[in-house]
Amino acid sequence: MSKKILIIGLDGVSWNVLNPMLENGYMPFLQDFIKKGKSGILKSTEPPITPTAWTSFQTGLPPEVHKIMGFRNFILKKGRLQSRILTSSSVSAKRIWDILSENNRKICLLNIPLTYPPFPINGFLVSGFPVPSTRCTFTYPEDFKDELLRTIPDFEVMQIGIGAKQKGMKIENIMGWWIKLISQKTKLTLYLLNKELWDVFMIHFQETDLLQHYLWHCIDKSHPEHKPEDFPKVAQFYSTLDNKLSKIIAKARNKGFSTIIISDHGFQACNCSFKANSWLFQKGYLVVNKNIKSDLISTLKKIFDLPRLYKFRSRIKQSKTKENITNQFLESAINYEKSIVFMETNAVTNIAFAHFFSDDARVIQKVLDDLDSLIFNGYKVINKIKKEIGKNNVYKIVFADGVIASGTVPDDKPFFETPKPFGKLQLGVHHRDGIIIFDETLKHYKLSENIFDVPEIIMRLQDVPFTPSGESKETDGLTAKESDEIENQLKGLGYL
Ligand SMILES: [Zn+2]
Repeated sequence: MSKKILIIGLDGVSWNVLNPMLENGYMPFLQDFIKKGKSGILKSTEPPITPTAWTSFQTGLPPEVHKIMGFRNFILKKGRLQSRILTSSSVSAKRIWDILSENNRKICLLNIPLTYPPFPINGFLVSGFPVPSTRCTFTYPEDFKDELLRTIPDFEVMQIGIGAKQKGMKIENIMGWWIKLISQKTKLTLYLLNKELWDVFMIHFQETDLLQHYLWHCIDKSHPEHKPEDFPKVAQFYSTLDNKLSKIIAKARNKGFSTIIISDHGFQACNCSFKANSWLFQKGYLVVNKNIKSDLISTLKKIFDLPRLYKFRSRIKQSKTKENITNQFLESAINYEKSIVFMETNAVTNIAFAHFFSDDARVIQKVLDDLDSLIFNGYKVINKIKKEIGKNNVYKIVFADGVIASGTVPDDKPFFETPKPFGKLQLGVHHRDGIIIFDETLKHYKLSENIFDVPEIIMRLQDVPFTPSGESKETDGLTAKESDEIENQLKGLGYL
């Protein structure tokens, strides 16, 4: 007989976050829940990043197969690098929701990352991070949006760059904001749990990830910038989350659900930020066009101020604009004739990808050897280097824990002017160890060890046969007409 399942996603939550909250009595419900059930570490994907890990969770496939490596992918086309913005449509593998729907299971999915644009399921779907705005269609079926906004009129969606709003805000105000959002989601969850008889119900909370990025030093007592008075302010959020979880799980239990809580990755302090492309530039492995227009750099700075940009753009235009500008930058900044390599970095994890323009194995090996011998403050910077399966001349660079590679695009200065490749960041960054907790009704089941193994247990509990399968597809780039249109719009807005 199949079991009804409630899945709760807590983005980026790890035991090093939860334990201080549990030990200090801020999460009494969860403490009891853990004690009665069973729990462990859930390994994330490589890279341990939100869209990648949640896609593995939904498809049962590792990133090498579903090819969602972040919020955007970099590919080498005709010797030139191009970037692609990824959305739910970029995932061509079957999701467990497709299979559950085919088997007539009623499912409800709230706020799972990379589920925008929404897609058909046998039930309701509210898209998760990132969603451009409440003006666009972010629910399936489409008309559920009206019902949602009637129930929660000030419902807030998670846009790319939403976390940046925290900058300059007081801790109390950040907490108030995130508490408001988790309260909205809890209200929606309780409303929908009452509305229909579901087989599988999933609610995801993104707020934990955004909070931990910006306020890691308040949680981590060993952080050099930790102030003891800040801990209780942040703990207040986790205490409210505990209360919301207790309400959701109690309601679900009354309706016969078993509960699984998971996260997509963990968190840790950032020990070192490595500006990979600055280093490559200094070593002469990356050659930059000196005549790169300074207004292109200033445009990039504006473009990466995404919350501001989002105010002006419709859904398609937002994605296409970011995509187009990054591609313009890659095209005009990199001297492809003289460069050997460019590093695709991601400032939240310790994984980067080196894209080689050269086919010369000795040249590639020399760069990889140089990278491998990097030392910072007496520590080896890189843990391992692996050739990416199925990709020409792309190598996955795994940095030491807490070391992140940044600098795909310039921040305060064009990357080739940055004098020091090594620096410090206050932000919390991703770690591979997430959490998994089963409630007492699932105590006799084996805990999944990797995030891409979780679908197997969901499908087993639902009595639906499941074999992960699928291939990725390459999404098409911009047409010349679209590029022109976007450029004209940007000019109109004063961006160019
Ligand atoms: Zn995440």
